[in-house]
Amino acid sequence: MTKAKNFPLHADLETVLVSEKDIKKRVKKLGAEIATAYGDEEITVVSIINGAIFFTADLLREIPNPVRLDCIRISSYRNDTKSVGQPKLLQSLTLDIANRHVLLIDDILDTGKTFSSVANMLKKLNPASLHTCVLLDKRGRREVEFEADFVGFEIPDKFAVGYGLDFAERYRNLPCIGVLKPNLQNPPEWA
Ligand code: 5GP
Ligand code: MG
Repeated sequence: MTKAKNFPLHADLETVLVSEKDIKKRVKKLGAEIATAYGDEEITVVSIINGAIFFTADLLREIPNPVRLDCIRISSYRNDTKSVGQPKLLQSLTLDIANRHVLLIDDILDTGKTFSSVANMLKKLNPASLHTCVLLDKRGRREVEFEADFVGFEIPDKFAVGYGLDFAERYRNLPCIGVLKPNLQNPPEWA
């Protein structure tokens, strides 16, 4: 927990899962991997806000290709105690993605419900290609079969905050990714 003094939110963490330095290194590498995969093609990036904002902003600056950016907002199904049904689209695309090379970006792949339903929705709009990228992957939690094409880090089954990931809309601005102390996770609300 370095930087606790100049970034007091660090003190709320029980564990750091991914350090700021490791995020920077991996995001740079991911950018290079994506650029190689797309060659000279233009990429239409669809980012799921709010969680993917920080990751998307840093990642795109590591991708030298021409890029168009659009953001969508998906309803969280997690606050709902009855919690069934599909994630819903709250804010839709503004760009036309037909015949475009689309890269869908999110902060974390957990049960797979969000990504698989958004990917299906985007496929109906006839993109030339559709690839997916997540910063974090909790592979052990999958309920719907889904693998992302580009993954930043695999993490254990813990509720992660920081670098865009929130707990009740807080902690997004933490520069690293970590797990909150147990007394701060109670009640465990998913934002
Ligand atoms: P899935 O639909 O794959 O279960 O979940 C994806 C969404 O759930 C993510 O976009 C994210 O908003 C939220 N989520 C899943 N796991 C975590 C986590 O560990 N921390 C935070 N802050 N959000 C999570
Ligand atoms: Mg969220």
